[in-house]
Amino acid sequence: MTIKIAVAGSKGRMGQLIIEEVHRFEDLELVAGFDILGVGDPLGGGVIVSDASDLAEVLRRSGAQVLIDFTTPAATTENVRVAADLGVDLVVGTTGISEDLKKEMARDIDGRVAAVISPNFSVGVNLFWKLIEVAAKSLEGYDIEVIEAHHRNKMDAPSGTATEAVRVLAKATGRSEVVYGREGQGLRGDEIGVHAVRAGDIVGDHTVLFAGPGERLEIKHQAHSRQAFASGAVRAARWVASVPSGVYAMADVLGQK
Ligand code: NAP
Repeated sequence: MTIKIAVAGSKGRMGQLIIEEVHRFEDLELVAGFDILGVGDPLGGGVIVSDASDLAEVLRRSGAQVLIDFTTPAATTENVRVAADLGVDLVVGTTGISEDLKKEMARDIDGRVAAVISPNFSVGVNLFWKLIEVAAKSLEGYDIEVIEAHHRNKMDAPSGTATEAVRVLAKATGRSEVVYGREGQGLRGDEIGVHAVRAGDIVGDHTVLFAGPGERLEIKHQAHSRQAFASGAVRAARWVASVPSGVYAMADVLGQK
């Protein structure tokens, strides 16, 4: 049986790759795509870009079972509400969503649909989060710095992946103070330092640096293309269509929990 997929942000960097990925599989069918610009453009398989403001009507008409959303925080929050109202399962990749809006999304999803929400859908980054947890627990008292680099068009800083890394590190070490960038006079304390580089067309680099007396360990992930995110998002879409309602992480999809 085929799973009917809709994509929000279908003309975006991620949306276009996700649509290519959906078309590769016989068990998946693209039934709708939404964006603000490019309405009416072909997306393959006879599907055209629908106006984002027609989301509810087109989702209903197309019989979409899963909506994959890589858009903006404001758009995603609204799209999640509409999809949950219609019983459409979700894969959400948008980053930079505030804690308040995340809670609002979880309330909209609760008990109605299944949703995989992850700031990073790559297999490597999901392992990276596990590895930094192990290192943080082992390297007691070491200074910790999170350094990320992305392309010049990225809207949010630090990245969702770095923010998740900070959450993992804070939980593993019990450290609560986070310092974003540094300037001026003063010694570092026990904080977790976070640094965001924005330049050119860097797809996404994340390093966690642990430094202690006489040594340092760096755990680093580098995305060479967005393909890893698109493949992961489509894998999550296939998975989410078969599980009970609830909010899931990519680690659930990968069986890492
Ligand atoms: P992008 O190229 O700017 O694509 C976003 C697309 O969404 C744009 O075409 C935008 O249209 C469209 N859009 C805006 N509002 C919309 C709405 N209400 N309905 C439908 N489409 C709407 O950005 P991107 O690089 O693809 O990234 C998108 C998001 O995914 C970002 O938050 C990024 O950080 C995140 N991301 C996540 C992962 C992951 O693995 N979780 C990986 C990469 C990126 P306009 O251009 O006209 O505004």
